Amino acid sequence: MARLILFGPPGAGKGTQAVELSSRFTVPHISTGDLFRAAVSEQTALGVKAQGYLDRGELVPDELVIDMIRERLVQPDTQAGWLLDGFPRTVPQAHALDELLSSINQSLDRVVNLEVPDGFLLERLLGRGRKDDNEEVIRRRLQVYHDQTAPLIRFYGDRNQLTDIDGSAPVEDVTAAIQTALTAFFSQA
Ligand code: AMP
Repeated sequence: MARLILFGPPGAGKGTQAVELSSRFTVPHISTGDLFRAAVSEQTALGVKAQGYLDRGELVPDELVIDMIRERLVQPDTQAGWLLDGFPRTVPQAHALDELLSSINQSLDRVVNLEVPDGFLLERLLGRGRKDDNEEVIRRRLQVYHDQTAPLIRFYGDRNQLTDIDGSAPVEDVTAAIQTALTAFFSQA
């Protein structure tokens, strides 16, 4: 059983590490970015609302994200744990997650914070070729990260729930560092 948040700036390698971690802990990987991209490509009501925000590199309004997560965390496959990737991304989202978890009698185990300097991120994101990866949108996403998302490092750090990992190391080293840190955490818990 593990309930984890994978945290970090855009381009830090959350998606790649999330795949490894969700298989290591056998928990579903819940990526709000993937859920929004699927909704946009299917043009669901949510997708239509979210599309402009994704295209501009802005955050989708908190209520829409929170509703989507609430629906996901009451499904049967998430009862034995989960890995959140890309959520929470604002302080209100983190408070909403707290309330949601307490209402369903669950608690967060750990937040893994992938630390990567901006210079690296820009280079990685430009090389990735996703639709929202043109330079102007990337710069906007990095700025949004620093303004609205980075304050969560303090939020979870103050609660001693944060594990910092050097996300600029080679992918396999990052995976190994996360697994070592989480194994140590769960063996003490
Ligand atoms: P990602 O794949 O995590 O980089 O997310 C891609 C885009 O989806 C972001 O730039 C936002 O527009 C939107 N998004 C994903 N997760 C969130 C969230 N927790 N809050 C608001 N917007 C989000």
